[in-house]
Amino acid sequence: MSNKYSELGLKVGLEIHIQLDTMHKLFCKCPTKLVEAGGEEVFERELRPARSELGEVDVAALLEWRRKRRFKYYAPPEASCLVEADEEPPHMVNREALAVAIAIAKALNMYVPDEIHVMRKVVIDGSNTSGFQRTCIIGLNGYMLDGERKIGIQTLCLEEDAARKVGEEPGSVHYKLDRLGIPLVEIATAPDINDPEQAERVAYKIGQLVRLTGKAKRGLGTIRQDLNVSIRGGAKTEIKGVQHLYLISKVVEYEVVRQQKLLWIKEELLKRGVKPEDIKDTVYNVSDVFAGTKSKILRRAISRKGYGVYAIVLPGFKGLLGVEVQPGRRFGTELADYARVWGGIGGIIHTDELPGYGISDEEVRALYEKLLADPSRDAIVLAADREDRSREALKAVAERARMALQGVPEETRAANPDGTTRYMRPRPGGARMYPETDIPPIEVTESLLREADRYVPEPLDTKLKRFVEVYGLSRGLALTVLNDLRLDLFEKLVEKYRGRLSPTLVASTITNTIRMLKGEGISIENIDDRHIEETLDLVAEGVIAKEAIPEVLAELARNPEKSAREVVKEKKLVSISIEELEKLIEEAIEKNIESIKEKPQKAFNIVMGEVMRIVRGRVDGRVVAEHVKKKLFSLLRQ
Ligand SMILES: [Zn+2]
Repeated sequence: MSNKYSELGLKVGLEIHIQLDTMHKLFCKCPTKLVEAGGEEVFERELRPARSELGEVDVAALLEWRRKRRFKYYAPPEASCLVEADEEPPHMVNREALAVAIAIAKALNMYVPDEIHVMRKVVIDGSNTSGFQRTCIIGLNGYMLDGERKIGIQTLCLEEDAARKVGEEPGSVHYKLDRLGIPLVEIATAPDINDPEQAERVAYKIGQLVRLTGKAKRGLGTIRQDLNVSIRGGAKTEIKGVQHLYLISKVVEYEVVRQQKLLWIKEELLKRGVKPEDIKDTVYNVSDVFAGTKSKILRRAISRKGYGVYAIVLPGFKGLLGVEVQPGRRFGTELADYARVWGGIGGIIHTDELPGYGISDEEVRALYEKLLADPSRDAIVLAADREDRSREALKAVAERARMALQGVPEETRAANPDGTTRYMRPRPGGARMYPETDIPPIEVTESLLREADRYVPEPLDTKLKRFVEVYGLSRGLALTVLNDLRLDLFEKLVEKYRGRLSPTLVASTITNTIRMLKGEGISIENIDDRHIEETLDLVAEGVIAKEAIPEVLAELARNPEKSAREVVKEKKLVSISIEELEKLIEEAIEKNIESIKEKPQKAFNIVMGEVMRIVRGRVDGRVVAEHVKKKLFSLLRQ
């Protein structure tokens, strides 16, 4: 298949992290639950790089070191112990988590080694009290099918989740230890994915597979995905923390655009004859240029002691900082990201956006003059902050500008909620794994493999057959459900409502109704399994008609904290009794009696329309029709 993306040489690899809903954490007996505030122990730590640096200095670690942050930990006693506080060595690996991970590896056609070794992966952001995350490889070299295509699954790791970030203040980050140690499976695909839609499809399939073990956690934050994206001539960009599966295709599309634009900027710079050595690290204090400025931002900086306005020249960059690289994000935004991360300043101002921010044309001219820069060719970047921070920030901007001559830098980026991304840090080096000396290797015994077999999901073709033959789904609907992340919910609910709701209704609520709501612009990411189940409960109890399902779900998407029962009460969606319905029909007939007698062939539509207007969503349309026909029949027969 040849399309735009294969021509661009797009390669995407996914790394999917899913929390496991096991009884205990991975290395201790604490439960795998998050707790609210109250009665917690609090302690502080600093980053201890000595424990992790074996020779080679990791750039990402270096960045964190330079930020010199302290970390504050909240340790709720009901969901953490001395293991999470790093005061006690880890216990043996949780056997339940091991069995589930092996089951997933088998379902992904992976090789499971005879012996499992726990390793330490360096983490530098304080999200683990020990300074590293424990991880072990459970499966290697597997694959899954996307239609006819084989997508390689490189590794499946079982690892501990990080501590939960709960706050931040200058120089200090706060974490809660309840999440630390919850088992996670991390599934990494090969870069075999060649288009954005496929990336999303594969991610759904993997998420679904893990859920089908019956041991996946649900809800926001329980599934996170990282993407590796590159195009020909670009560079591998690692995008962290895509929170929703449905955002994946968008994130990939936007990253492709960004890399294309960065390559275009590189070409343009080469055409202009710009060389890396032209871009100097020299930072100028230009506060005097803005002595009488109307710009509030600059005035505030100039008036504060130790603060000022600082500038750096980017020769040959005129006009390029204003080039949009992603929706709403310009090349200047990419530079600003570096200024923020490395200098800790709020942002930058550049000449491609001036005059503006209260800065006049005259001031811009004076600025170029002072720095002996060419207003028709060069760009100037300003920082208005404390001197040391401004200097660091502008040096980082110069560094990033030099990288523009290489095209796309190798970066780790963070996903924004709208699908765009922002710079986080350089891509960490490879040498970050060390053996965990506190835990001996684990033998994969026959009995462990037998335990794992209990969690291996039923093959999808067996399910398809059962859905059509036993549940009576159409083949099309059955296939739709099989491709849905909530496949496991479907099976659970069909069992629950057996004899009360048809499997077809359950299936189409989970798939078609949700898709329809998405089409209407409803935030379906807010709809969780609980909402769906509560809504169908009400249908099964006869409290609402199935016609009311979309409205209830839409309202729950807007107010996810509400219960379906509350929504139904507020919106007066409670179904009405047959007596009430018959009364309404009689009233409608009475009201329209003239036209009914005049045009009996239209009587049904008239009455039906009138009644449905009142009872829509409260009674099944078929029930209404039945009663309308009955009433009209006896009336017109007279
Ligand atoms: Zn614990």
